[in-house]
Amino acid sequence: NCGQCVVTCPTGAASDLSELERVKEVLEDDSVVKVVQCAPALRVSLGEEFGMEAGSIVPGRMASVLRKLGFDRVYDTCFAADLTAMEEGHEFLERLERGGPFPMFTSCCPAWVLYMEKNYPELLPLLSSCKSPQQMFGALVKAYMAEREGIDKDKIFLLSAMPCTAKKYEAKRPEMNKDGYNDVDAVLTTRELAQLIKEKQIEFTDLPEENFDVPFGLYTGAGVLFGTSGGVMEAALRTLVKKLTGKPLKNITFEPVRGAEGVREAVIGIENRKIKVAVVSGIKNVAPLLEDIRKGFSDYHFIEVMACPDGCIGGGGQPRIPKRSLRKMVLKKREKAIYYYELGLPQIAAVDNPFIKALYTEFLGGPLSEKSHELLHTVYSDKKIFFH
Ligand code: SF4
Repeated sequence: NCGQCVVTCPTGAASDLSELERVKEVLEDDSVVKVVQCAPALRVSLGEEFGMEAGSIVPGRMASVLRKLGFDRVYDTCFAADLTAMEEGHEFLERLERGGPFPMFTSCCPAWVLYMEKNYPELLPLLSSCKSPQQMFGALVKAYMAEREGIDKDKIFLLSAMPCTAKKYEAKRPEMNKDGYNDVDAVLTTRELAQLIKEKQIEFTDLPEENFDVPFGLYTGAGVLFGTSGGVMEAALRTLVKKLTGKPLKNITFEPVRGAEGVREAVIGIENRKIKVAVVSGIKNVAPLLEDIRKGFSDYHFIEVMACPDGCIGGGGQPRIPKRSLRKMVLKKREKAIYYYELGLPQIAAVDNPFIKALYTEFLGGPLSEKSHELLHTVYSDKKIFFH
């Protein structure tokens, strides 16, 4: 167990060997179109499983190894994180125009969503209705990719490589199934993916750097930021700034939402608006904020919550850190690598991703459209447990 979110971790297990066995079987099946997506956090951690230094940036080797394992389409969840930044940014803008409800909570961490459903169901209307990037990605593959390429949905197998065990639970939520098809068919954690690579005796460090496939392999810095605490907020704010100012974005960073403290807050001025935001990492830190909201004392507009301290770079399925005393240093290196990597990308805001633009034009019709709601948004339910 990851030990960080034992209160909320719905699976309670850091490994699911039956799922790994299933993936191995599918990889041998030539009748199936095998699609894979990789979460933002893996690009700065997977290398550790192969003796590389913490924070080594390995997206090129990830693309390469996934092809070698037998996947037909090698995609990146950062693309869907860009899409989440678009949908969530527009949802927040809509709430600003409507006057609420505030604060809007991010919804891309399934352990946090389950915590809300179990402990604060009366506050569920505050959660963004956006699915997480993992699930948005799955819905797109099963709807858009299948239609575009004329592939029978029964013949598509979508694997997610994710930093956490809660994503396995999320993929199995009944809300994440449309017309009998799960958005995502299987989830492997970073460590399980590494185990598969080792079993196949692939020398990860010797692999050439390759690109992810288009269209779902092209992303901006906003999508990459989802890998660390504060990143979901920062990515959505970049969408908001572009929408409200209409100006091109260059080098825009929101420093106050970055860092390792459990709760960080800032007031951000955009045009003539003042937006009060908070970033929470580590589920134990969120209860005081929720109690204030319950009592009507909160004046926040937007709050990001990630169940793991430091966000997904510190997820329960990530490479194990050999000593507790090294944890802070390793997580710092992973975080720095995320920020360093995003600096090198040509675009920093999801609105500038040309494939996101094309997706809205060709298929979805626009952010928050009927089709976007059908595929990319979800509903939550009261899961409070009563003891008699
Ligand atoms: Fe999973 Fe990230 Fe949430 Fe941790 S913070 S439970 S790794 S989604």
